[in-house]
Amino acid sequence: MPDSADKLALSTLTVTAGRPTVVPDAPLNPPIVLASTYAAGGTAEYGRYDNPTWAAFEEVLGALENGRALAFASGLAAVATVLDLVPAGGVVVAPRHAYLGTLGQLSDLLGDGRLRDVRLVDVADTGEVARAAAGADLVLVESPTNPALEVADLPAVCAAAREAGALVVVDNTFATPILQRPLDAGADVVVHSVTKYLAGHSDVVLGALVTAPTTRGDDLHERLLARRKQVGAIPGPFETWLALRGLRTLHLRVERACANADELARRLAGHPAVERVRYPGLPTDPGHTRATAQLPAYGAVVAIEVRGGAAAAESVTRATRLWVHTTSLGGVESTLERRRRWSGESPTIPENLIRLSVGIEDVEDLWADLSAALDDVLEPPSP
Ligand SMILES: *Cc1c(COP(=O)(O)O)cnc(C)c1O
Repeated sequence: MPDSADKLALSTLTVTAGRPTVVPDAPLNPPIVLASTYAAGGTAEYGRYDNPTWAAFEEVLGALENGRALAFASGLAAVATVLDLVPAGGVVVAPRHAYLGTLGQLSDLLGDGRLRDVRLVDVADTGEVARAAAGADLVLVESPTNPALEVADLPAVCAAAREAGALVVVDNTFATPILQRPLDAGADVVVHSVTKYLAGHSDVVLGALVTAPTTRGDDLHERLLARRKQVGAIPGPFETWLALRGLRTLHLRVERACANADELARRLAGHPAVERVRYPGLPTDPGHTRATAQLPAYGAVVAIEVRGGAAAAESVTRATRLWVHTTSLGGVESTLERRRRWSGESPTIPENLIRLSVGIEDVEDLWADLSAALDDVLEPPSP
């Protein structure tokens, strides 16, 4: 990467960071290094400690988030590693609508007596987060949340948590560094499920942590790196290389997916089979007028509540042809899912809520397919 990297735009960093030095005959891309061990006398030593393909991926993600990145085997391996920073008997604040697997880890830690308390909050309510942060060791924020799409006022939430003496960790999976950089807003650590937008092609499971470019951040980096070595929650070099290849087009994919999501959210708000659209920033979304200044665009996940309850929502997920009925999100292809089909999903998520992960296809094709599936819900049953 050039010396003037700090002045480059995110789109340029996405393309140029993490490349081998340009010398005659050097490949433009970092190779996939398959190695369980390295010749002695250097710093890498062993395949669980270090890998050049991880380093290339980490350089790009670190540049994008303005911090130091570490790759992990999955998003949840990254979450587990960051929760290991909490001392035994500690207290964690988390979003009531955090990612299901994250909430599962927290409830296991609480059940096992590893944590003393887990305080679930509405991240859009800064006052509630600040009150819960008193006496907490770690404040975990997701913004926007999955799948309720609540948005936190990140600078205010980070300041309140820091004031209370807690570590602030932000899961930035939904927004990506293209839309929001939590470390710049005062967070200590950023979490990513790289599986989603960063890798972006629904073909790899990977995670990452990024620490702030501060003395405190460097200390956290060392502790998290030591933990990764010890626990062995490491990604495969091939998966990391795939994620790096996907990452190169992040800015273009996010831009196009956001434009599609914005257009579809507006049209969905006017569809008679849709009771409510959740899309942060959408004027017709009454719950999300607060604190949206963080996001210049609002991401590419939209949630709709379908008239006719769970059965109608299920039938929409079965009726689409382009939109694939599946879990997960953040790929180039558009997907949808009724979240309450998972028994572990929060009962405060409506039964008829469908989460849409808007991809980069033609928006008219996406609308034609989705609106036809919604029209079917309105048709009276045949006699
Ligand atoms: C998917 C997801 C995770 C978990 O990541 P995996 O890569 O599936 O382990 C964590 N947080 C959020 C917000 C997610 O969407």
